[in-house]
Amino acid sequence: MKPLADGTIPPEGSAYWVALKQFEDAARELNLDEGMVDFLRHPKRELTVNFPVTMNDGSMRMFTGYRVHHNTVRGPTKGGIRFHPNVDLNEMRALAMWMTWKCAVVNIPYGGAKGGVIVDPDKLNESELRRLTRRFATEISILMSPEGDIPAPDVNTNAQTMAWIMDTYSMHKGYSIPAVVTGKPVQIGGSLGRVDATGRGVMVTTREALKMRGKSYRDVTVAVQGFGNVGSHAAALMAEEGATIVAISDASGGVANPKGLDVKALKDYVAKNKFVKGFPEADAITNEELLAYKCDVLTPCALENQLTAKNADKVQARLVAEGANGPTTPEADRILEDKGVMLIPDILCNAGGVTASYFEWVQDLQSFFWTEAEINARLDRIMAEAYHAVMAEAEKRKVGRRVAAQVLAIGRVAEAATLRGIYP
Ligand code: NAD
Repeated sequence: MKPLADGTIPPEGSAYWVALKQFEDAARELNLDEGMVDFLRHPKRELTVNFPVTMNDGSMRMFTGYRVHHNTVRGPTKGGIRFHPNVDLNEMRALAMWMTWKCAVVNIPYGGAKGGVIVDPDKLNESELRRLTRRFATEISILMSPEGDIPAPDVNTNAQTMAWIMDTYSMHKGYSIPAVVTGKPVQIGGSLGRVDATGRGVMVTTREALKMRGKSYRDVTVAVQGFGNVGSHAAALMAEEGATIVAISDASGGVANPKGLDVKALKDYVAKNKFVKGFPEADAITNEELLAYKCDVLTPCALENQLTAKNADKVQARLVAEGANGPTTPEADRILEDKGVMLIPDILCNAGGVTASYFEWVQDLQSFFWTEAEINARLDRIMAEAYHAVMAEAEKRKVGRRVAAQVLAIGRVAEAATLRGIYP
């Protein structure tokens, strides 16, 4: 791999290395000129902040956080903020780059960003977490604004975190600025339909894929890995459409029933018991067994690197819909393609969340709020159009769907960069 402008190459196998490899494949397919390729493989700007937080015992502790903007040629940057012990600058760079492509694939006017703090939030109590969030928001406020960079929730951050960030930013300005973050509570400028939007996007893109095979949800069985925000809403919405959900898993393991699981009852069970383990009227299975479970559609909605060279040949599903970011390794991609398994790649499949975030931002800027039905209808249209645009690209170029999604996205970003020209 060609070194970056600072002379470094990301560690082989790291998220940034994978992101750059995927980018190189797509850039080659697009025949982009070398200068443009080099421009698009670099993040635009990176901020590292080291900041103190007063802990509840009166001591002071230092934390490190990041905000990375990958590209701004199509609009302000958009991307989540995660709190996790494994956060590092290379991971932020990869996720920011994927956000640029994700926004472009659904054709919304944003570039990609990502931010995070190296912290295990389970080890802090609420008031410590609130002070950490407010201080981090202040530190990155030199990059953040409704016009320039709009954060959202990600791993271990939620609507409450966004409320604290929005309030911090607003306190500094002297008036309320809800459009500075998305994924806020509805009571303070959040959008209806945001909570289930990623799962809804998974449901819509899968529905379109089934349609292309002359099928509907009534004809298929589905296995869902992960029962958090994405997995639980995807499962519930697919079940509403008539699918039989035969297996669901989470960090505790999985539950399966070939006749179908009652998703609503499982949600209630998880609300009380935290995990799916022990759910009655189902067999206990492992996560490995879930991925290989007999079903028509498999939707990994948990973590990255779940379908690998070790297990991809055991997948029985004919369609894999990637609700999670990066659930399939490049080797597993090849195995699934050889088996003829149809793929809905992550930057397309899980783009419903950022699309609803875009709706939230537009509503905040106009102080004019839409009904949930309007939001769901617009989301459905954008996701279905993006699905068919990616399939048309794959067909036209005779490439896999992951490459096709990247080609469509990167082509749009390169076109915008060319139209604007390189400054000065
Ligand atoms: P979440 O924390 O709400 O849920 C994650 C789920 O995965 C939980 O049920 C957890 O128990 C389960 N899990 C954890 N480890 C597991 C394992 N080893 N095996 C099986 N299940 C396991 O997270 P989320 O918001 O649903 O995000 C899931 C994935 O979707 C992530 O890759 C995230 O980046 C991606 N994503 C989320 C959104 C969004 O709007 N929330 C948008 C786009 C992409």
